Amino acid sequence: MYLPLQDIEAAHLNVNDPDHLRIHSLETFGTHDGPGIRMVVFVQGCQFRCLYCHNPDSLDVKGGILVEIDELVKRAVRQKGYFGDSGGVTVSGGEPLLQRSKLTTFFKKLKEQGIHTCLDSNGKLNTPDVHELLNHTDLLLLDVKHIDDEWHQKLTKQSNKTTLQLAAYRESTGKPMWLRYVLVPGWTDQPEYLEQWAQHFGNYKTVEKVQIIPYHQLGIHKWEAMGLIYPLIGTPIPTYDEKERAKGIFEKYFEDVVVV
Ligand code: SF4
Repeated sequence: MYLPLQDIEAAHLNVNDPDHLRIHSLETFGTHDGPGIRMVVFVQGCQFRCLYCHNPDSLDVKGGILVEIDELVKRAVRQKGYFGDSGGVTVSGGEPLLQRSKLTTFFKKLKEQGIHTCLDSNGKLNTPDVHELLNHTDLLLLDVKHIDDEWHQKLTKQSNKTTLQLAAYRESTGKPMWLRYVLVPGWTDQPEYLEQWAQHFGNYKTVEKVQIIPYHQLGIHKWEAMGLIYPLIGTPIPTYDEKERAKGIFEKYFEDVVVV
């Protein structure tokens, strides 16, 4: 393990400033995290330790900066004219569910302003306060990193159990979600597991889109800058054929599959 796992739940419970979000960075005109043009808030802290994480500096729950929720709402309102019919605000990470109560406040305020809300999550928590946040989330982007729990744990140091439970919960609410899958040669591209992954969600009615995210090595320099050894040195990026093969398997089960 390259960074110590911290007491994430305690960090959440000890939050004594409900008016501020701990964030890593902010993107004002994002086009990759949800529909349309979006303000993307990358929050700080994550419970996963993905071997390919391209933002290792976003994992520490005590890092980042504190930003007033009202200030973020004001920024979103100023940008609203650019969002058009489909855009809005996305909260990504790091892992947003660690700040779920504060994000519920944030999303409620955005909805009062008529702004579309989107949450990009690894699904590590499936609790009543997460469900409350999802009530105010127009679109959930759920990262399901491996369908096999053993492989999932090798890849992320965490089980996929709650992620699958959260997907089932979202399905039960009838509210939309996109599923995201990082395609890593030798780790997540096994045809039998791609098939299992697709079969697991194939009957879901709320899955509007499946996004295949090809593994890349753009975060290596951050690992090096932090004095860490990048665990996937030597892992190639997927070839065109490998991406098309994964897409072909998913397309047997889903109408809208894109490689991003
Ligand atoms: S879930 Fe995302 S932020 Fe967390 S370790 Fe994995 S890639 Fe990094």
